[in-house]
Amino acid sequence: MKLDVNALRYLSKEEYRVLQAIELGQKNHDIVPVPLIESLAKLRRGGIADCLKGVLRQKLVHHDNCKYEGYRLTTLGYDFLALKALLNRGAVSAVGQQIGVGKESDVFEVLDVKGERCALKLHRLGRTSFRAVKAKRDYLQHRSSFSWLYLSRLAAAREYAFMKALHAGGFPVPRPLDNNRHAVLMSLVDATPLYQVHDLQDVGGVYSQLMAVLSLLAERGLVHCDCNEFNVLVDEECKVTLIDFPQMVPTSHRNAQELFDRDVACITRFFSSKLKFISEGRCPDFKAIVRCANPDQALDIPLTAPGSRSPECDALSTYSMTDLAQHESSRSETDLERNTAEVWSGSKDTTYNC
Ligand code: ADP
Ligand code: MG
Repeated sequence: MKLDVNALRYLSKEEYRVLQAIELGQKNHDIVPVPLIESLAKLRRGGIADCLKGVLRQKLVHHDNCKYEGYRLTTLGYDFLALKALLNRGAVSAVGQQIGVGKESDVFEVLDVKGERCALKLHRLGRTSFRAVKAKRDYLQHRSSFSWLYLSRLAAAREYAFMKALHAGGFPVPRPLDNNRHAVLMSLVDATPLYQVHDLQDVGGVYSQLMAVLSLLAERGLVHCDCNEFNVLVDEECKVTLIDFPQMVPTSHRNAQELFDRDVACITRFFSSKLKFISEGRCPDFKAIVRCANPDQALDIPLTAPGSRSPECDALSTYSMTDLAQHESSRSETDLERNTAEVWSGSKDTTYNC
């Protein structure tokens, strides 16, 4: 998939305002009524109809007239708003090809203003398990309707916060660069996802690095919760980088031990079945790690952790947990499915737009 951002160049100020107005209106409406868009956009010379026509033609919004005349943003429309904000503040200068497609995200190669290659992850919560989200409406609390915009934005903010804390704590993760709406900008890791690696020069070393990272994470108060061959990148020197953090939980979470053991088991299973490596050492012991951990060393995460009282975090937590439960029963199939379209490329012939 290519994120065709050429239309961004031709988007008028008024059309941009209309997109922002629809985004604002979606806080309380699935479909934002035209009069509300008009009053939120506050266009000087009117002209709302032309603007709506323009953004509809560019597939940035979806038109609905079932109950009343209204619009909502499409995925592309939301992508545009995030990209435009990142372009405006000079974080991004061009968008290239897609380098990864996860179950709930699309990852693109982009250039920053200095022309350096970075990775832009666009969260797409609800893409694969929309029904699971709808079934758990209780977490919506004061909200009248479910919004993928809201959850995707929450996931991106959480991922960015975790990435910043982990990076500052010296963990092998991408460098966090920026966050806007559902987008996270980070350094591009020049490495291959573990599931694509067939033979590793230092298989034992890579396994030990992973066990050490998971143990150190628990020592600093966190569990990854989705540590598997799809979320580990390995470079030519066999150095690992961990990615994909929105679902992380603190070690105080009621299911932390189970989730930690599952991470360890996933990695151990992959190494034994695909890489034919069986470790002679003992697997890390969650209880022992937590018992010896120094609370003063816990990572400082600015966002409230899932499982806490915050309605926003509860929303994401409930969503992640539901999803994880489903995910677990069909992990290998889903993982394969979600990554079949994945293209890993460090190639120089990438074309950039903008
Ligand atoms: P999801 O949450 O949807 O699983 P991930 O964060 O795991 O998304 O990213 C999906 C894929 O995108 C990864 O498997 C990886 O190939 C690629 N990817 C993600 N982040 C980076 C990065 N910083 N550098 C290089 N590739 C990345
Ligand atoms: Mg992933």
